[in-house]
Amino acid sequence: MSADCIFCKIVNGSIPSKKIYEDDDVIAFNDINPSAKVHFLIVPKAHIDSLASCEAQHQSLLGKMLLLAPKLAKEQSLAGFKTLINTGRDGGQEVFHIHLHVLGGGDKPPKA
Ligand code: AMP
Ligand code: ZN
Repeated sequence: MSADCIFCKIVNGSIPSKKIYEDDDVIAFNDINPSAKVHFLIVPKAHIDSLASCEAQHQSLLGKMLLLAPKLAKEQSLAGFKTLINTGRDGGQEVFHIHLHVLGGGDKPPKA
């Protein structure tokens, strides 16, 4: 838990979210400012700044996040979807708690 981190606050429930999935390791919730008809985020409960901070010990967690994407996309009735991880300010990352974006559901594929 990082005191100033908005996603840690969502994980611990002190900030509300539209949660679509939770287990011991990860949480998924709808993006507050969606870029597609369906746009949710898959977030580890443990605070990790970014993909650039990940190490070998995070391999299974990262795999779990990726494998959750098609499962949750199917539950959201998406026939296809886009996944995205922004890394670092130059990579467009705004929230420095690693998260996997999952987008889909419009007439056209979502823009990355
Ligand atoms: P990124 O630019 O990859 O760091 O993406 C951060 C994402 O978090 C953006 O798409 C925001 O709309 C989203 N976001 C920020 N605050 C919240 C929140 N309180 N609940 C849900 N999504 C949020
Ligand atoms: Zn955090």
